[in-house]
Amino acid sequence: MAKTLCDWSRNKRRKKWDKYVRRVLPVQFICQKCGRAASDRKYLCRPESATPPSSS
Ligand SMILES: [Zn+2]
Repeated sequence: MAKTLCDWSRNKRRKKWDKYVRRVLPVQFICQKCGRAASDRKYLCRPESATPPSSS
């Protein structure tokens, strides 16, 4: 039952804030569906690299 941060309820986030922050920082991925950020893609349901696209 590996839950993504996307599934975390507001209550759970508040109760386990330290854990939540440790999974978010340093931000490496952003969820395309929910807009959440995380340090690992496994914490998001639609992870996308948080690296800014290089402007060419
Ligand atoms: Zn998501």
